[in-house]
Amino acid sequence: MTFATLGLIEPLLRALETLGYQTPTPVQAQAIPAVLAGRDLMAAAQTGTGKTAGFALPLLQLLTMEGPKVAANSARALILCPTRELAEQVHASVAEYAQNLPLTTYAVYGGVSINPQMMKLRKGVDILVATPGRLIDLFRQNALKLNQLQTLVLDEADRMLDLGFSEELANIYRMLPKKRQTLLFSATFSDEIRQLAGQMLNDPLSIEVSPRNVAASTVKQWVVPVDKKRKPELFVHLMRKGRWKQVLVFAKTRNGVDALVDKLQGLGINADGIHGDKPQATRQRALDRFKSSDVQILVATDVAARGLDIEDLPLVVNFDLPIVAEDYIHRIGRTGRAGNTGEAISLVCADEVNMLSAIEMLTRQTLTRKMEPDFEPEHRVPDTDASGQVVKKPKKPKKPKTSGGGGGKRNLGKWVDSGDVAPAEPSIKPVRKVPVFNTGPRKKK
Ligand code: AMP
Repeated sequence: MTFATLGLIEPLLRALETLGYQTPTPVQAQAIPAVLAGRDLMAAAQTGTGKTAGFALPLLQLLTMEGPKVAANSARALILCPTRELAEQVHASVAEYAQNLPLTTYAVYGGVSINPQMMKLRKGVDILVATPGRLIDLFRQNALKLNQLQTLVLDEADRMLDLGFSEELANIYRMLPKKRQTLLFSATFSDEIRQLAGQMLNDPLSIEVSPRNVAASTVKQWVVPVDKKRKPELFVHLMRKGRWKQVLVFAKTRNGVDALVDKLQGLGINADGIHGDKPQATRQRALDRFKSSDVQILVATDVAARGLDIEDLPLVVNFDLPIVAEDYIHRIGRTGRAGNTGEAISLVCADEVNMLSAIEMLTRQTLTRKMEPDFEPEHRVPDTDASGQVVKKPKKPKKPKTSGGGGGKRNLGKWVDSGDVAPAEPSIKPVRKVPVFNTGPRKKK
């Protein structure tokens, strides 16, 4: 199968050739013809599967072939994203795909001044990428009208709800024209997402890409048990031993990010951090410097790092395990993208055993543990397996396997290949039609 056989027009095919895309990914093969045919979509797809091109290519084609010219202060298509970084990234991809088309694109998000955004919207834009809060601000200040909107894309819908945007989404829904095409992408399908889909979608086509997603299948994963207080020391030790060059590190909290960055910088290591408390410009600068290898270690919270596409990222380290097991899949999806190989290492302390167990259950695999000599934990991490069982009773501490010393001959165990990664809820159940959203209180980020 080629992009041409999916019915894409020549200017798009030329752009894809420039980008080196040869074959459509599974989500693209399913989504492109359906969107071109005008269908609503409910798609289960994670980042790394090529979903952005899956919705953006047919969307660009429809906007080129159909509909009136964009009016002042209007948008013809709206792509909603959960975070500013993701909005920037999606916009960059859309702009690349649109390079040979006479369409305008723009991204708006909070954390930066609204005035330039208002100015830019005066002439109207064909495709607007936005985070929910800023979109509502622009709408309320009459900088944006949505009556010309043909298509709405909800990207990472599950994440938008996780971040407490259900109220904003309900507000946006009221601002939209009734007749429109809606495409919903989500990594997981909770009841809340189904409720959202029931409200927003019209007879949607369900698409599901294989949970053995192309990106993750090339990620080798393992766990290093360690006491909580020794995690920073272990990180630096592993970094030096493995001569890590470019690492994306996930920490649980904003304070955790800052503390680790301070520690690394104090040791003269080229590190920076991104989290929700930092101004957008600082976050973007840190990310750009990391992408261009000017920063070696980027420490991030899940909120800041979701969906980021960093080319050829070799290694992801979970300094802390994520509280939500699904986030583990998203985190490790930052590496091993587009067919490259990658590694994902998790530093796990006894407190995190339930999180480890949840991850193993979700991904249906028992993660290989590799004890690091001199860092064997005093507080043993109880045994876990993919059944979700935690062996609570501590076993008699075993002597650490240090045979071979630092000579590199230690038995490191079998690689766990995340080709076996399979989210616990891979199937899409039928969409329930329900009258209202859950507009509960917004969770703190
Ligand atoms: P996404 O899941 O949309 O974030 O895309 C993940 C990565 O795969 C991005 O770097 C894309 O540029 C790349 N990509 C998407 N579709 C293709 C394709 N058909 N061939 C090669 N690379 C692709």
